[in-house]
Amino acid sequence: AGRKLPEYKVVVLGASGVGKSALTIQMTHHCFVKEHDPTVQDSYWKEVALDNGGYILNVLDTAGQDILRALRDQCLAAGDGVLGVFALDDPSSLDQLQQIWSSCSQHQKQRLPLVLVGNKCDLVTSGDADTATAILARKWRVPFVKTSAKTRQGVEEAFALIVHEIQRAQEAV
Ligand code: GDP
Ligand code: MG
Repeated sequence: AGRKLPEYKVVVLGASGVGKSALTIQMTHHCFVKEHDPTVQDSYWKEVALDNGGYILNVLDTAGQDILRALRDQCLAAGDGVLGVFALDDPSSLDQLQQIWSSCSQHQKQRLPLVLVGNKCDLVTSGDADTATAILARKWRVPFVKTSAKTRQGVEEAFALIVHEIQRAQEAV
């Protein structure tokens, strides 16, 4: 029997339409979905192979900002870490993410590791969102990564970053 791989549960949070489902499915299934039912919440599974053993990624794609608070708390309780997603072409989605995350933190006994993800980088050149995001990332003291669920740019990096943050948090205990 093989050695059991560690499993990391990542909860994907953010406003509706920012690309949570597209990112999740790009990561786990290597394809870009243009239309994904915004009300569907589901979890996805992928084995990430690395030279030194790898791990199992368990990704919970949450459904929109309207997700019931009780449900969200339940998701977070089951998670090891969070990808906080907004869309680089929609500054209001960064505000919405801030609201979502601050309402989450109130209920968390201990803050879950978080990575800030600016998605849809294929749609923007660069600009205002970068500055605002950099400031927020510094305030929250979390890593920031730009992604495109369409081109896969930054997608593996985003998941690798959150796994790294989770591992760091677990080692610190
Ligand atoms: P969710 O509500 O956060 O799960 O968002 P979806 O994953 O359903 O994506 C909303 C819309 O944005 C869909 O039409 C996606 O095809 C599109 N989308 C998601 N990510 C990207 C991206 O990185 N680039 C582009 N160009 N479109 C994206
Ligand atoms: Mg979705």
